[in-house]
Amino acid sequence: MKSLKFALSINGRMVSAMETATAINPATEEPICQFPLASREQLEEAVQAASDAFSAWSSTPITERQRLVGALGNLIEENQEAFIELLITEQGKGRAGAEWEIGGSIHWCREIAKQSLKDEVVLRDGDEAIVTRYTPIGVIGAITPWNFPLLLAIWKIAPALLAGNTMVLKPSPFTPLCTLWFGELANRVLPAGVLNVLSGGNELGQWMTEHPGIGKISFTGSTATGKRVMQSASVNLKRLTLELGGNDPAIVLPDVDAKAIAKDLFWACFSNSAQFCVAGKRLYIHEEVYDDVARELVAYARTVKMGNGMEPGVELGPLQNKMQFEKVKELLQDCKDNQQRFLLGGELTKEKGYFIPVTIVDNPPEDARCVVEEAFGPVLPLLKYSSIDEVIGRANQTEYGLAASVWSNNLEAAQLVARKIEAGTVWINHAHQFSPRIAFGGHKNSGMGIENSLHGLAEYTNMQTVLQKAPVTGRG
Ligand code: NAD
Repeated sequence: MKSLKFALSINGRMVSAMETATAINPATEEPICQFPLASREQLEEAVQAASDAFSAWSSTPITERQRLVGALGNLIEENQEAFIELLITEQGKGRAGAEWEIGGSIHWCREIAKQSLKDEVVLRDGDEAIVTRYTPIGVIGAITPWNFPLLLAIWKIAPALLAGNTMVLKPSPFTPLCTLWFGELANRVLPAGVLNVLSGGNELGQWMTEHPGIGKISFTGSTATGKRVMQSASVNLKRLTLELGGNDPAIVLPDVDAKAIAKDLFWACFSNSAQFCVAGKRLYIHEEVYDDVARELVAYARTVKMGNGMEPGVELGPLQNKMQFEKVKELLQDCKDNQQRFLLGGELTKEKGYFIPVTIVDNPPEDARCVVEEAFGPVLPLLKYSSIDEVIGRANQTEYGLAASVWSNNLEAAQLVARKIEAGTVWINHAHQFSPRIAFGGHKNSGMGIENSLHGLAEYTNMQTVLQKAPVTGRG
């Protein structure tokens, strides 16, 4: 395990702060350690350092930037086991989930490091040439949430730096530790000022979005905060990528084999204890197979162990923080107050830790809070439908449009449904496949812009078109 000392990274140096806060282990509610809360002056220093570093970094050959972004993955790999343990401790997830996130962080650094944006020749005709190029923006402000703290930070760091930008990154105050440590390690390979990592409260995020020295905000978090970010970013017309909330439908067609899909369906909805922007959050099941799917899902759910992720065999952990725990508890109470029936779960144990048991709600009304709201916790409504048109209408009846899944033995039927869903990503017969090469982004109130793929890389650039003609004297 890493020594439990964490500092800000500003201009290549480790810096302490006047104020600190306590990181809490959500499985035990015990303090882990103190971490720094950056002041406004320290944000100024970080933005200045990033700004000073920009000229040299953006002029560094792309091959060298690719090498260094790849090397960031090596830093994580060299400390893989310690990162996994730290992630379990601060975030609460089970070991397999932590291995997925840390392994994914390494993979992303290495794969993004292979990408580049080539100049596009629009026209080359005799004396005339028109070329569109992708130029870096400058200082990027990155703000991340607490569900996948390191991986979602890497989704921003790797493409932003590769494209020639420098960065000030703020992790969630609930899960700052892996990111602060990553910043400390990155100082060994990156030139000073290229990546600055500052932990702090929500106000630090607000100061970043207002800061005129930052050219773009790449934000992952809730829709409510995303809207605030958009408002304050208008101060200097910052570029924005917003990856926000979702209330993803999972649609089960009548031809499925209920037993065969139960396991995958369960993980589509409950991975990371459903603290997953793309978790299936409303499970629509055709009335012909409703009882079978419900029964098989409950049967599989009973085999899954929830607990402290440091214990062997634990697959689901607690909610990450008390605020979220109280929110989901309230949602459970609302189900009870409205006489909704639980097929599983619903009752809390008295054990320490922010644990909410896997809870499956039996066909609540479409306007129930557990259907309409993004629970961001393991409370799943099963919803009965009778026709495809009806289910598509109900699935799209939401302000969100992040992702969805469709489950069927008939691929053609599933594709027809998938094409009508208003969401940035639709999986058929599986869920949660991500890759550095696959574009990811939300429709409607789930965000704007794309992460991953060359589309995501392009979001860290401005386009510049150079239109050239031969010198006037030389045109004959
Ligand atoms: P949040 O919006 O509360 O916080 C996200 C980050 O924003 C944190 O670092 C926080 O400190 C910061 N912040 C808070 N107020 C701010 C302000 N006024 N200005 C700037 N920054 C501010 O979200 P959360 O609770 O950490 O995360 C859960 C939410 O994130 C869920 O809604 C989930 O769906 C969403 N999420 C989306 C994706 C995606 O890719 N679309 C991925 C993961 C999580």
